[in-house]
Amino acid sequence: MATIKRTKRLLILPGDGIGPEILAQARRVVEWFAARRGLAIDLREEHFGIPAWHAHGSLLRDETWAEIEAADAILFGAIGSPDYDRIPGAQEGTGLLRMRTELNLYINLRPVKALAALGAIAPIKADVLRNTDFVIVRELVGGIYVGTPRGIDTVDGVRRGRNTMVYSAPEIERIARAAFELARTRDGRVCSVDKSNVLETSRLWRAVVQELHDAEYRDVDLSHMFVDNAAMQLVRAPSQFDVLLMENLFGDILSDVGAAVAGSIGMLPSASMNGMYADSTERHRALYEPIHGSAPDIAGKGVANPCGAILSFAMCLRHSFMRPDEAAFLEAAVIRAIEGGARTPDIALPGQPPVSTARMGDSILRALDAAHDLKEAS
Ligand code: NAD
Repeated sequence: MATIKRTKRLLILPGDGIGPEILAQARRVVEWFAARRGLAIDLREEHFGIPAWHAHGSLLRDETWAEIEAADAILFGAIGSPDYDRIPGAQEGTGLLRMRTELNLYINLRPVKALAALGAIAPIKADVLRNTDFVIVRELVGGIYVGTPRGIDTVDGVRRGRNTMVYSAPEIERIARAAFELARTRDGRVCSVDKSNVLETSRLWRAVVQELHDAEYRDVDLSHMFVDNAAMQLVRAPSQFDVLLMENLFGDILSDVGAAVAGSIGMLPSASMNGMYADSTERHRALYEPIHGSAPDIAGKGVANPCGAILSFAMCLRHSFMRPDEAAFLEAAVIRAIEGGARTPDIALPGQPPVSTARMGDSILRALDAAHDLKEAS
C-alpha cells in the first residue's frame, strides 16, 4: 500500500440526534492526527439533516452537496428525527440514501470484534465470544431498498404496500469480489448469506458468488448459509465467521446482531465505498459512519458512546488515507482507554460510574498522547 501523497479532504457531516455529540469527539481525534502525527487533512464540516434545516431552511443545500462531491472521504454521524414529519415532503433517510447511490458506495464493511474488555458487559457469554473477529460485507446500493415498483396504493378498495427486491449478476459479482479480496487479507474464508430456498434474487446471488469463486478465488474457502440460520449462528457461535457476504436488507438486520456480539451498538464502525482502497480506485469515494442511528432516546444527554464514530475514522485512515499503521494505532488507543476504565453508560461495568461522551473522548486522546510519546521516546 502506498502512503498518503497529498492533502486529503475530509468532510464531517454530524447529522441528527447524537450525531453532533459523537462527531465532536471524532473531530478532536482527527485534529489530533493532523497536529501530532502530521497527517495532511483539509477538514471541512457542514450541517446535514435537521440542523441544516434549522440553519439554512434546507435539509441538504447545494453548497453541502458540492462539498460532498469534492470530498475524498466523509465522516458521518447519523440521520433520523421525528422532526422530519413536520417538514412538508421530507423523508428522513433521503439524504443518506442519495449519498450512497450517487457516490456509488456499493461496498459496506462492518467489522465486528469481541473485545476482551467488553466481555463482562456483553449479552453473549464470554466463552462463546472468544476469538470473534469478523467483517460483514453488505451490498449497499441495490436490493429491496431501491428496487421499483414500490409504494403504497389501493387495489379494489384494499390498501397494499409493495417493494421490489432485484439484483443483477454484475451487482452481485462486484460485491462478491470485494468480499473475496478482503478475505485474502484476513483468514481466507467467505460465508455468503442468502435465502435461496425461497427467493429468486438469492438463487442468482448464490450462483454468481459460486461462479466467481470457481473462476478466480479458489484459494478462498467459500461456504453458503441461509440468512435465518446465519442470525442464529451469529449468536450461537460467532467466532466461526471471517468474512460474511450479504445483500442490503440482510446486512442491515444482521449487523445489529453484530452489535450485540460486540457488546454495544455504540462500538461499531462502518465504511461505505466505491472501491476497497483509495489506491485501487480511480476516484475513490467513501463515507465512514458508526452503524447506529440517531438514538433520539439519549440525544442531548451527553452519554452517547463516541467509539463507533472514532473507530470509523480509523477505517478512514486505513481505506481512504492508506495509513493502516495509523488506523491500528487509533484502534489500540480506543481499547486502552476502555481498559483504563473510561466507559460510557452502554459499556459501563456494574457498580462503576460511567463517563460522559466528552470524557470518553478525553480518555482516548490521553491514550493517543501516551502511545505517541512512548513511540517518540523509543
Ligand atoms: P439507534 O441505532 O439510533 O438506537 C438503538 C438503541 O441503541 C437505542 O437504545 C440507542 O440509545 C442505542 N444507541 C445507539 N447509538 C448509541 C451510542 N453511540 N451510544 C449508546 N447507545 C446507543 O436505532 P433506532 O432507535 O432504531 O433508530 C433511531 C433513528 O435512527 C431512526 O430515525 C432511524 O431511522 C435512524 N437510523 C439511522 C441510521 C443511520 O444514520 N445510518 C441507522 C439506523 C437507524
